[in-house]
Amino acid sequence: MNINVSQLPDDLKKLTLEEVNSRIITAKKKLSDNLLILGHHYQEDGIIEHADQIGDSFALAKIAANSTAKYIVFCGVYFMAETADAVTTKEQYVFCPNVEAGCYLADCADIMAIEKAWADLKKITDEKVIPITYMNSSLALKAFCGKNDGIVCTSSNAENALKWAWKRGEKVFFFPDQHLGRNTAYKMNVSLDEIVLWDKEGQDTSIDKNAIINAKIILWDGCCDVHQEFRAEKIDELRRDYPEIRIIAHPECNFEVVRKSDDSGSTTKIIDVINNSKKDSIWGVGTEKKLVERLQKLHHDKKIFFLQDWAPECKTMSMITPAHLMYQLENLVDNNLINRISVDANTAKDAMKSINRMLEL
Ligand code: SF4
Repeated sequence: MNINVSQLPDDLKKLTLEEVNSRIITAKKKLSDNLLILGHHYQEDGIIEHADQIGDSFALAKIAANSTAKYIVFCGVYFMAETADAVTTKEQYVFCPNVEAGCYLADCADIMAIEKAWADLKKITDEKVIPITYMNSSLALKAFCGKNDGIVCTSSNAENALKWAWKRGEKVFFFPDQHLGRNTAYKMNVSLDEIVLWDKEGQDTSIDKNAIINAKIILWDGCCDVHQEFRAEKIDELRRDYPEIRIIAHPECNFEVVRKSDDSGSTTKIIDVINNSKKDSIWGVGTEKKLVERLQKLHHDKKIFFLQDWAPECKTMSMITPAHLMYQLENLVDNNLINRISVDANTAKDAMKSINRMLEL
């Protein structure tokens, strides 16, 4: 049985940050090549400074898949560590230093609700429907796509995944993030009439069967509670104050925000665009607080604003602190069950089918 440690022992809570950092460095040295620490862009600076590799969920999954390290400590949210365990070997162990770190978006769709919707959809249409799940979903949904001729996508390859799917079927069932599905399909010239939101409660009579029959893409009603906070009105305000501003938003932002932006893309794309922009340029950015604040610190010569009056933060990403990382590293060898993420082999096998289809895109 795995042991989950979200509450650290009391004596560790009294340590100073300097002591924690020093113990992390010592533990890392001891574990040497047996250890790989992965840090998602939305992790705090205190984690990022110890990470061996930093990236978005897709990049980190690929790094995990290519790693030979025995212990992979994934500083991100639960679904990312689950995917990392699926893509690594039986001889490798994946850990999430705080297994309570879930994802609001991934939790918007559970496998039972998706299976029910899938069965209901089949009663409405005879056309071939291809399921696509966003990377930000449970491994069970990735396995569902694997078993049903579907695919996984990320925010950087969603367009290619949709092209792939429409070559194989008339319709796409896209979950869990409605915004990524709508923003990407619209960018590909699918009209809003052909983009339908699935009524997951089954009570909204305004969604009629004809809308489903005429749809090219049916969206699950899920969203990220961080990215949905960004506002189109803030873009108008920033453009009034800074006519030369460029706006870039993550495609998990709502339709109006992405439509009013100059560009949209994954966290990796946002970082690249800002890094490569000219001195004195002005940016409005629609993504998570810790990443944007890091960009602000790095680029003193540029002005970078949030697309909101405040800075929306992913609370679950913040659940991994340097003390959690230290505790994880110090307990890796003696008791490697702490915070271990171990997925069911059959689920992993089915999930790999849809993940591999994505990797082949
Ligand atoms: S930012 Fe949104 S999608 Fe990303 S981990 Fe947090 S809740 Fe999930």
